[in-house]
Amino acid sequence: MTIKFGMITNPANDILEEINSILKLGFDYAELGIEMPGGSPEVVHRNSHKIRNLVKEFKFPPLAHTAWWIDFGGGYDLVREVWIREANKSIDAAELLGIKKINFHLYSIGLVEEYKPYHKLIVDNIVKSLREVARYANSKNIMVMLENSNQQKKSVVDIKDYKFVIDSVPNLKVHLDIGHAFIENGMDGIKDYIFMFKNKLEHIHMHDNHGKWDEHLPLGKGKINFEQTAKWLKQIGYDKTITFEVFTSKKDAKDSMIKFRKMLS
Ligand SMILES: [Zn+2]
Repeated sequence: MTIKFGMITNPANDILEEINSILKLGFDYAELGIEMPGGSPEVVHRNSHKIRNLVKEFKFPPLAHTAWWIDFGGGYDLVREVWIREANKSIDAAELLGIKKINFHLYSIGLVEEYKPYHKLIVDNIVKSLREVARYANSKNIMVMLENSNQQKKSVVDIKDYKFVIDSVPNLKVHLDIGHAFIENGMDGIKDYIFMFKNKLEHIHMHDNHGKWDEHLPLGKGKINFEQTAKWLKQIGYDKTITFEVFTSKKDAKDSMIKFRKMLS
């Protein structure tokens, strides 16, 4: 098995056009943003046949990505329940497309400095919500992965919270965003996530930044040492998927993919 390289659809655009351009760029698979407006569950339902046929042209099956701002941690229970229902709707859309892996993010509007005293309540709510969501997805044979947050170390949420959630939710797998780990704690952050979660690591997002905020730059335009990252991934024998989440342009995403493939070989 070797690593598969993919690109993510931009949910602001038409989903079919997005998939088509990823296909033309020669990626191994597409990560589909099941996100409003361009990739909302309703849009997926309306276009499911066309999407299914199009993704068959890739060498490897698609993955599903949901909106980063789905809030499983909020203290308003009715709102939290509706987020779970929205998440389940996204899982239904993924099922319709035959997708087997879907991600959610370690995010809550409550995970900010101002709400520090409620940190435990918020993280516990995230666990409670994800248990329901993972159970629902698993009943449809779909795996749920959790993407790590893009906050700096001094903020509220960190790798310890991430580990707590991963350890507390049955069958929840790891989706490591390399850029986010770098913002949290530099190269040590990337190393810690790779080695701490190597047994549950299912998927990776890759892009560059300067360590302050989530710039989603091409590889080499920020401060991340990708040569070192490639070495660590080889050390753990990583052989799954890497999506190039470079937002400057599609060509930049492709160039980043070629660059990283060279680093791995
Ligand atoms: Zn990401």
